[in-house]
Amino acid sequence: MNNFLKTLIILTLLSSSMSWAKPNIVILATGGTIAASGESSTSSAYSSGVATVDELINAVPAINKIANIQGEQISNIGSQAINDKIWLKLANRVNTLLKKDSVDGVVITHGTDTLESTAYFLNLTVRNNKPIVVVGAMRSGSSLSADGPLNIYNAVSVAINKNSFNKGVLVVMNDEIHSAREVAKMNTSLVNAFASPNTGRIGTVYYGKVNYYTQSTKRNTINSEFNIENITSLPRVDIIYAHAQDTDIFVKAAVNAGAKGIIHAGMGNGNIYPLTLKALAKASKNGVIIARTSRVGSGRTNLHEEVNDTKYGFIVTDNLNPQKARILLMLGLTKTNNKEKLQQMFFEY
Ligand code: GLU
Repeated sequence: MNNFLKTLIILTLLSSSMSWAKPNIVILATGGTIAASGESSTSSAYSSGVATVDELINAVPAINKIANIQGEQISNIGSQAINDKIWLKLANRVNTLLKKDSVDGVVITHGTDTLESTAYFLNLTVRNNKPIVVVGAMRSGSSLSADGPLNIYNAVSVAINKNSFNKGVLVVMNDEIHSAREVAKMNTSLVNAFASPNTGRIGTVYYGKVNYYTQSTKRNTINSEFNIENITSLPRVDIIYAHAQDTDIFVKAAVNAGAKGIIHAGMGNGNIYPLTLKALAKASKNGVIIARTSRVGSGRTNLHEEVNDTKYGFIVTDNLNPQKARILLMLGLTKTNNKEKLQQMFFEY
């Protein structure tokens, strides 16, 4: 065979193998409705966390056409049972996987109840700029018009998209792409349950076609200072929900239980009932970090408006909702007890 022919054959082989080179995506399954099975196709009653990761992957054969898929089971629970052990296990695993050249991105399947919390935890603890996509479903796999399979296809499509690098952790639900920092579950049961109330979605994914329009400006992933490699549990932080004619008993209970921080989900702009304020001021004086947030669902909780934060030693949580503020405070407390530094974290993350 002459040299020209040899070169031609090598080039042909190279170019065809390049066009076959699909990205490598790992799907980490944790449970939820996306892995649920219902009583019938028209029943809303179901058990979550039934299908295994392999069953989830087999239910969406189309993903094998766009990526080399590998699956791993992290847990198989309803996400109301999530805890710091699972968060740490998941974040460590994602960190390990994404460090490998052979992994191009990860997709995490998750129950929708605490999906936003897990996504934000990963946003702060995974040190990598490769795509990390969290996905759930509102309807079980056995339901009429189940949303899980298309959500998974869309999540893998987002994970293989080159524009998904450097965006922090992403959440894909109902054809929308959201930033982990901004997204929240806003409805208990509808398919369009997820929204980013302060900023809106950052993009769309329509039958696998990805378009981005904006992105979060807050510190995340490679720009995060939090390192969970050597941590086995997170400091105790409780959330206390405010209401008319509130009480001081929950503040006292949290302090007695050893809380290092309390997120106060206040009325309006983080306001506090007088009796509760007295208990929070005392806790703050005794070294518990008191962070004011709001039960409203959107908007910023501002320093020094109706509450004299300097006098009481309180901090505020910018526009994070209470459940996300809890995550940032837990991680912040792994680094420092200094109020000024913790306050700064709430402005940066
Ligand atoms: N409560 C279950 C969970 O969060 C099911 C809800 C869902 O995934 O939509 O895992």
